[in-house]
Amino acid sequence: MSHGTTFRTVEEQQERVLAAVRPRLAETVAVDRAGGSTLAVDAPAVNPVPVFDNSAMDGFAVRFADVAGASEDMPVTLQVTADLPAGSPEDPPLAPGCAVRIMTGSALPTEADTIVPFEDTAGGLADSLQTAVVQRAPRAEGAHVRRAGSDAAAGAIVLPAGTLLGPRQLSALASVGIAEVQVAPRPRVAVVSTGSELVPPGTPLQRGQIPESNGVLLAGLAAQAGAEIVLREVVGDEGDGPAEAAARAAALGADVVIFSGGVSAGAYEAVRLSMGEAMEFVAVAMQPGKPQAFGVTAEGMLLFGLPGNPVSAAVSFETFVRPALLRLQGRDEVLRPVRRIPAGAAWRTPPGRRQYLPAVIVDGTVVPAARGGSGSHLTVGLGGATAYAVVPAEVSEVEIGDLVDVLELD
Ligand code: AMP
Ligand code: MG
Repeated sequence: MSHGTTFRTVEEQQERVLAAVRPRLAETVAVDRAGGSTLAVDAPAVNPVPVFDNSAMDGFAVRFADVAGASEDMPVTLQVTADLPAGSPEDPPLAPGCAVRIMTGSALPTEADTIVPFEDTAGGLADSLQTAVVQRAPRAEGAHVRRAGSDAAAGAIVLPAGTLLGPRQLSALASVGIAEVQVAPRPRVAVVSTGSELVPPGTPLQRGQIPESNGVLLAGLAAQAGAEIVLREVVGDEGDGPAEAAARAAALGADVVIFSGGVSAGAYEAVRLSMGEAMEFVAVAMQPGKPQAFGVTAEGMLLFGLPGNPVSAAVSFETFVRPALLRLQGRDEVLRPVRRIPAGAAWRTPPGRRQYLPAVIVDGTVVPAARGGSGSHLTVGLGGATAYAVVPAEVSEVEIGDLVDVLELD
């Protein structure tokens, strides 16, 4: 299985990758610590929302029958018999002709059925502890009352399994009284860059050396996809560096190893030479990202071998690794939504391969991010990209105005 003539489609390779993913057992974490994790089981409400019938306004809790006829010409005067600040445990009685001063969110007295806001009384807040002179009738019984359970009943499923937990989702869980959730463990990921030419950024460069940039790229992309990075290293092209790094990753309990570089058809392809038994090396009909390697160890650790050019590595991550990381966390939707946007520039695309072009969206049109075109070595263009334009294999040229599939990046 190697380079050359028989191409696999992107979808065929994605299917093989996803078929190898085995989600891990859920773990229990405090809601406060669950941000960025994926819910592993449906979350039912412990308490309803709202928890109890309560007031939606600052004003007076009343009996609707007392004030149904109130108007500016014929105001109704009620005796104020109690006061309910937020959090009050009281349930004061409410006789006909009386009112209870109540603040937003306070529990509605059992004998009240309606709220009259301060705005509808003559005295408003300023004169609210003796009498309430109601000048406007509520529109109906129940006006300005929020009913218990009107957002969610106790036991209702608040969020389904597979939901990514961000601040809004965590707030919803907290509001229904949930303190701990079952989440998918964060995938443990090792990032191994290969190449004898690579040195840490900032190191004075000798001829032939370049700054290593895929490590920070792939570790960051994996973290964005919910992973925890357990190992990051660079190995040279001589010797058995990739296999030794994979063994270290396995010892650290890694679920995934992402190699970059050393998978194509040159003379010193470290991953191919060192991991050839454990991984399948294929050519995928995409540009960049044609050479791909993938394997699974006996223990179920996923091994990805991405081409080393930084744009190729980024596109390969997007296409194969990110879906696997999301599926490991139990997510159903593992591919980004596609938007169709008109091209704002013309560009050429490689024949017979699907193009993934780093792009930006300008005035509602999609244009290449790199001035130099679509070369997979154009790392600075990658830094300006906010999207990938995806052009089918059959298309050889994109014209201005053509509708293009676009993946917007985070
Ligand atoms: P390879 O896939 O190993 O043949 O690498 C293809 C190109 O990508 C070469 O020009 C490498 O120098 C470059 N490259 C490989 N790995 C990295 C890396 N980690 N950071 C920056 N450039 C890289
Ligand atoms: Mg290399």
